[in-house]
Amino acid sequence: MENTNKRVLVTGAGGFIGHFLVRFLKKKGYWVRGVDIKYPEYSPKDEADEFLILDLRFLENCLKATEGIEEIYTLAANMGGIGFISFHNSDVLYDNVCINANMAEAAKQNKVKRLFYSSSACIYPTFKQENTNVTALKESDAYPADPDNEYGWEKLFSERLYKSYTEFYEVRIARFHNIFGPEGTYDGGREKAPAALCRKVILAKDNDFIEIWGDGKQTRSFCYVDDCLEGIYHLMHSDFRNPLNIGSDRLVSIDDMIDIISNISVKKELTAKEIINILSENPDKNIKISEIADIISSATKKKLQKKYLLDKPQGVRGRNSDNTLCKKVLGWEPKISLEEGLEKTYNWISKYAK
Ligand code: NAD
Repeated sequence: MENTNKRVLVTGAGGFIGHFLVRFLKKKGYWVRGVDIKYPEYSPKDEADEFLILDLRFLENCLKATEGIEEIYTLAANMGGIGFISFHNSDVLYDNVCINANMAEAAKQNKVKRLFYSSSACIYPTFKQENTNVTALKESDAYPADPDNEYGWEKLFSERLYKSYTEFYEVRIARFHNIFGPEGTYDGGREKAPAALCRKVILAKDNDFIEIWGDGKQTRSFCYVDDCLEGIYHLMHSDFRNPLNIGSDRLVSIDDMIDIISNISVKKELTAKEIINILSENPDKNIKISEIADIISSATKKKLQKKYLLDKPQGVRGRNSDNTLCKKVLGWEPKISLEEGLEKTYNWISKYAK
């Protein structure tokens, strides 16, 4: 363990990425304090050495959170999927400005050495994201600024806010592109597309309609949470002081993602009788052994129809991450395939969604 007893703070430790980061940093040998307004929903709260319930919109709470801390990972934010951030503009702006302004100042007053800030691909200008076959976004594309929503404007403002404190401590900034995985919100209104679509496929019966926001042709890239954690760790230990993309550079449409998820929905455990029934229904009786897996997959995969809800918010038309700078400065890029990440997410949500 390379970091024994170094005291670090993870804010937003009750949330999706934050609680994974607590676990990740504990394995690396850190002493970890988690802070949030809620405990993690799907993991024990004692994964952190200490977990404080504090509302970080207030300076006195940020001072308590940062007391005796060497390094901070700031993930606390009032946020959700496009449905949430499109309809809660003033809450998102007020809460997140307060959290970040007070955390930046508390880190200075408590003489913290290094701070990580989780910014977002939502900072990139709308005019660079108007086509489905969009050119991947480079870090330098951020200006001239024209984010698509208030959540993105706040992230861009807070990048500048934290950079203004670099005379007091080291700052590292990542722009996350659609991080997904298990142990995250999958219903209730704050969930993002991968979890929402997994839930819809899990709950659908054969020939059901799956509701899709927009026309399904909008494109994004999706990064599995384990890759995100590695990216944070590499960036925090690098000398790179400007904002850096952490995301996958594989562009897929929402329709593509539903097809990947419905392939995952193939029934994995079948009785011998079910297998015999499927094969006996096949009109070609000279089936080759190599074809059997495909025949069983297509017979047991959920057959779904898509219903497009064109009046729902869908965000920008296309967005992808250009990883040239990330590979250059970190010598690293995300590795986990969308299929592998979605399978893990799907299997986890299957245990809960009823
Ligand atoms: P999340 O919503 O699961 O976690 C954020 C956590 O912050 C929540 O647990 C929430 O309770 C906490 N929080 C909110 N208000 C607080 C307050 N006043 N005081 C203390 N804690 C408070 O989100 P996430 O997906 O884990 O994202 C973590 C960070 O990464 C956020 O800053 C988010 O904006 C950023 N980000 C995430 C993604 C993504 O795809 N998940 C993409 C871009 C940026």
